[in-house]
Amino acid sequence: MPIERNLVHAQRHIRTLALATACAEMGARLRTIQLLTGLAPSHLQRLFRQPLEGPRRGRHPDSREWYHTANLLCRTEASIVVALYRRLASRGIDPPNALVGAYRHYLSSCRSVPRITFDRAFDLVAHTAGRWLVSSRSFSVFTCPHCHSEYLTGLSLAPTSNHECPFCKLLKRYACDPRVRAAYPLRAAPTNPQTLWIHACGPGYRCRS
Ligand SMILES: [Zn+2]
Repeated sequence: MPIERNLVHAQRHIRTLALATACAEMGARLRTIQLLTGLAPSHLQRLFRQPLEGPRRGRHPDSREWYHTANLLCRTEASIVVALYRRLASRGIDPPNALVGAYRHYLSSCRSVPRITFDRAFDLVAHTAGRWLVSSRSFSVFTCPHCHSEYLTGLSLAPTSNHECPFCKLLKRYACDPRVRAAYPLRAAPTNPQTLWIHACGPGYRCRS
């Protein structure tokens, strides 16, 4: 029994280190990694003491005001990251690995420089789910009645039309806004832009962490 317990402990620690490494590879700050893994700051500093593109330090982003003033493309991608996270979490994947899997899929789908950093994704999910660094939710996820995309909205808001949907706005601007076309250069105007991002995260998708 002691040997089995030791093995279980070792396997759990290895999985935690793998999670920390995956976060670091995607540019997470040390504090984000600490909150996701539960590893002590001193342990993380020893682990990443000589990183090439190591975890960033500095102030953690706060998305509560940011989201409502961000431009359309940032709000669209923020909603996509949270939708991907919710999809993986709903399948029973634990929240830290669901975040890593969602962000990895988001990065693989980006056709230009990602507008959402890993720390931002962490903060968006935290404020939507009310976990990690926050005790209460600041966002809810609303399904657009027109295009059926899921997007972030304020907690107290209950839109009755698609007038706030960033995906409907994206489609409307696609033909006339070169910034929107530049963000999706290889795709014709999609009928549902969120579907394009999430499609590869369907039933056959596997979280690699
Ligand atoms: Zn819509």
